[in-house]
Amino acid sequence: MAEHGHRHYDEAMLSVEDALERILSVFHVLEPEDKPLLEAMGQVLAEDVVSRFDIPPLDNSAMDGYAVKARDLKGASPESPVLLTVIGSVAAGHLPDRAVAGGTAIRIMTGAPLPEGADAVVPFEETDEVARRASGAELSEIAVTTEVETGSDIRPAAQDVRRGELVLDRGALLRPAEIGVLASLGYQTVEVVRRPVVAILATGDELLEPGSRHDPGKIYDSNSYGVAAGVLRYGGIPKLLGIARDNLDSMNTKLREGLESDILITSAGVSKGDYDMVKDVLAKHGKIDFWSVRMRPAKPLAFGVLHTPDGRRVPHLGLPGNPVSALVAFEQFGRPAIHKMMGKSLHEKPTVTAVLEDPIINTDGRRVYARAVVTKVNGVYHARLTGHQGSNVLTSMARANGLAICPDDVPRKEAGETVDVQMIDWPEEVF
Ligand code: AMP
Ligand code: MG
Repeated sequence: MAEHGHRHYDEAMLSVEDALERILSVFHVLEPEDKPLLEAMGQVLAEDVVSRFDIPPLDNSAMDGYAVKARDLKGASPESPVLLTVIGSVAAGHLPDRAVAGGTAIRIMTGAPLPEGADAVVPFEETDEVARRASGAELSEIAVTTEVETGSDIRPAAQDVRRGELVLDRGALLRPAEIGVLASLGYQTVEVVRRPVVAILATGDELLEPGSRHDPGKIYDSNSYGVAAGVLRYGGIPKLLGIARDNLDSMNTKLREGLESDILITSAGVSKGDYDMVKDVLAKHGKIDFWSVRMRPAKPLAFGVLHTPDGRRVPHLGLPGNPVSALVAFEQFGRPAIHKMMGKSLHEKPTVTAVLEDPIINTDGRRVYARAVVTKVNGVYHARLTGHQGSNVLTSMARANGLAICPDDVPRKEAGETVDVQMIDWPEEVF
């Protein structure tokens, strides 16, 4: 790594994969917390979930109809219906108060427990109930127009979950279906891996806080907000520290606030020429390396570990200052770090193969992540670049839904060639 000064800066470029591996090696899965069920959505289970009972608890009806003995209906057809005496009814949530004997039926609703003696359910549609009601006739008996097999339209007890069964494994991601399963097991709260608190710090004398008066000599801090939004998207809790000015005092103060977090993400101050100050400040709090990553945008990257007065270690990811670089580097490195802390399994953003509509030029052997819009035309994905690829042109990131990748050893990708596109978004209108 760079010892000092700028001389060593370009010495060894790291591949994106090597940089990511080094970064991830210092992160650990965070400790569990007990969360109300709904608030645990999107978090990872920190406990095995075993059922204390059967679901459904009892054999029950899959249809609105009549609980019967299947053998009573032998030979039943529309031409020769079988007449049964209706001896009662049972609704969902109630227990039947009598048994079905030969020649009788009990009216039953979907989800209601099956009465003793019954071994099948005949749906209303296979009876004369509707006609009988319309004619004002008694519902004390019912004509059934079909045979049924034993077990027909019965949902057996424990079909979904058996008592003692391991229903959800520790490590499972809680989606709506898992939240529903936990509710079905009676859980009100659940143990999940807690979300990381991500401190975010912008650096630069040129920066204004959004909301403050516009000043033509300055620019609004967009990195903090873009990165914080990314933190939210990937499940972390952003903690905006605001702006540190380009002096030692300001940096020191803000960095100290950043220690109250699981990771500190800064932007800017890592490119050639100005990283010495960041380096000096960080040297007081921990250890930091300045890397050149073989990618465009976002070549300069800083990574280190800060030490807190109470002995904790807080990883620090230093993103480049240019807004597109900051967001692209956050996607490649910040997102996996957040996911690892949350106990999620790590994979890249979904990638599609698309026909390129504009050339991508790779001038210096880095992996190019070109901002692109992916569309689907006659079942084929197409990727069009979103205009000027300068790393300061943030609106071209806003117009993109993916990053079209030109490999580091390919000097040029022509229009008409296929490329992999890492989908930053997975828009429903495209897929
Ligand atoms: P630096 O790494 O400090 O040389 O910054 C590189 C470029 O990114 C400069 O043009 C900065 O003005 C710009 N920049 C740095 N921080 C931010 C920020 N928080 N929001 C928007 N642009 C920024
Ligand atoms: Mg700066």
